Amino acid sequence: MWRSLLLYVLFDYLHRCSTTTSEADLGIAQRAKNKKRVKVTHAKIANKRKDDLHKYSRKLVDENAVIFVGNVNFKGLAKTKLAKSVLDAGWGMLKTMLDYKCDHAGIVFEEVNEAYTTQTCSCCGVIPANSPKGRAGLRIREWSCAECGAMHDRDVNAAKNILALSVAQCMTEMLMRQRTFLRSGMTV
Ligand SMILES: [Zn+2]
Repeated sequence: MWRSLLLYVLFDYLHRCSTTTSEADLGIAQRAKNKKRVKVTHAKIANKRKDDLHKYSRKLVDENAVIFVGNVNFKGLAKTKLAKSVLDAGWGMLKTMLDYKCDHAGIVFEEVNEAYTTQTCSCCGVIPANSPKGRAGLRIREWSCAECGAMHDRDVNAAKNILALSVAQCMTEMLMRQRTFLRSGMTV
């Protein structure tokens, strides 16, 4: 059920950044030192990515009532400066698109601090010694919690933690708004 509520787009997005025909063209043009072709291919890749992000964000907004995302940090994930900037720019663009499209469609959109969501067991709430950590942990796709024995898919576990954090964040904001409203009512 949480799948219909939750969006954890990082790995889906990373998958979308995989090599395309245009990127192969770019490699050929760069090796041939054809500056004009390199420039044209760069523009083609940027347009294609933007178009994909528009379609993807539209699909997500059309298919979900609530969208939660983690505040992904690419510094520790991408190996090169270029990869980092490409991912940062793409992720930033996707979040902006989701934000205004959700706003327009009347859908809740929340960004939450996703620190430790990969490492924490979504069943018992503990960070066990064997959970994926740091860059080395990126290779670990499945793991079982040393504390409670629950089996986890890395992304699904992180998504469940992000969902729990998001719901808690929404509840806190709602209670704060209610308290402010009640206080303002009392002083009138
Ligand atoms: Zn556990």
